[in-house]
Amino acid sequence: MKLFLKTVKTAVSCAIATALLCCGCGAAGAWRGAEENPGTAQRDGGHADSAGHTVGEPWQYADTAMGTVVQQTIYTKDEEKAEDFAEQAMEVLRRLEREQISWRLDTSEVYRANTYAGSEDGFLLSEELSVLLESCQLLWERSDGAFDVTLGAAIRLWNIDKWAAGEAVEDFLPPSEEELARALATCGSQRMRLVREASAGPLRLFLPKGTQLDLGAVGKGLAMENLNRLLIQHPDVTAAVISLGGSILTYGSKPDDSPWRVGIVNPFDTSDSIGILTLEGQWCISTSGDYERYVDLDGVRYHHILDPKTGAPAVSEVRGVTILMKDGLLDDGLSTACFILGPEKGMALTEQYGAEALFVMADGRLELSEGMKQYFTENQNRK
Ligand code: ADP
Ligand code: MG
Repeated sequence: MKLFLKTVKTAVSCAIATALLCCGCGAAGAWRGAEENPGTAQRDGGHADSAGHTVGEPWQYADTAMGTVVQQTIYTKDEEKAEDFAEQAMEVLRRLEREQISWRLDTSEVYRANTYAGSEDGFLLSEELSVLLESCQLLWERSDGAFDVTLGAAIRLWNIDKWAAGEAVEDFLPPSEEELARALATCGSQRMRLVREASAGPLRLFLPKGTQLDLGAVGKGLAMENLNRLLIQHPDVTAAVISLGGSILTYGSKPDDSPWRVGIVNPFDTSDSIGILTLEGQWCISTSGDYERYVDLDGVRYHHILDPKTGAPAVSEVRGVTILMKDGLLDDGLSTACFILGPEKGMALTEQYGAEALFVMADGRLELSEGMKQYFTENQNRK
């Protein structure tokens, strides 16, 4: 039995190179929006092999993992190799969720670490989570607390996991002030202690009672890191684009050496794009926005990025922010932090990481870091 729903290969297979950064959007929506952009890369003719696959065209797969749609576009010689890679990639993502980052599954490291909150002995982390949490703590410091992986209690209170873009959430009621205050009293990365036991190796995590980790803001970043590693182990795959909701990884060069063209979703109309990034080789692109997961109630939008100061959805002049960098992990974390911080503080932060940023403001203005300008072409007909 095939593990994947293989998307139909069409003459417009260039669509993959223009996947929209649209959390949870389906494949069709992804390329429809990108196709509306002027100058979309066109593929050269190519010729069909015996299996009916046009030589030089990629293989495409769509499936779900980590609560989002995963779209893979894989450039390799034959279908068997493509399928083999695509299956391994899905297993990597599912393992990541199951064994490392889920707060919900009792098989995961984060789940187990949370059960040790309040324990005097703490919890010995794996090497990978040690590196991750150390980076998260530094990002917390540098973002002035805007990015915080200890918001677990507040996030549970809002029931964010149940939200999806534009879907009605039954019986939604914002938490009361008292509930928020109680949850917030357990939050804050100043409460998280990471202790190195030897000069190298894993760290021991100490959390006070009630403090709960939530790695939702860096999960896709960790996934991009893992997928990049998997790609390097597969020299047969010469190029790929993998989209995980709001995060996209590009890798290698297409057979015709044309660049990747990645559309960025327009927060004002998620079927439209705000513009396109034209990129060569390996990049990670992450977007955070108030249109990805939310509930609208009585004219108020409750979205999934919380301000650690209030425990409530961040009130921001930003509708969406896209971060471009080589490193996946921090790319994802930075987009969340920058949504809360806004362009001025956000750009100062991204500069420290050598990342580029693009902010879509609530009044429709775009704010770009200097370095972003060379990659970004605005969609002049955006809605
Ligand atoms: P997505 O999960 O849609 O890719 P983000 O990367 O912006 O979006 O991460 C949002 C998720 O991160 C939330 O669903 C929640 O689990 C967690 N989160 C919310 N607010 C914060 C915050 N201020 N700092 C760190 N994590 C957060
Ligand atoms: Mg993020």
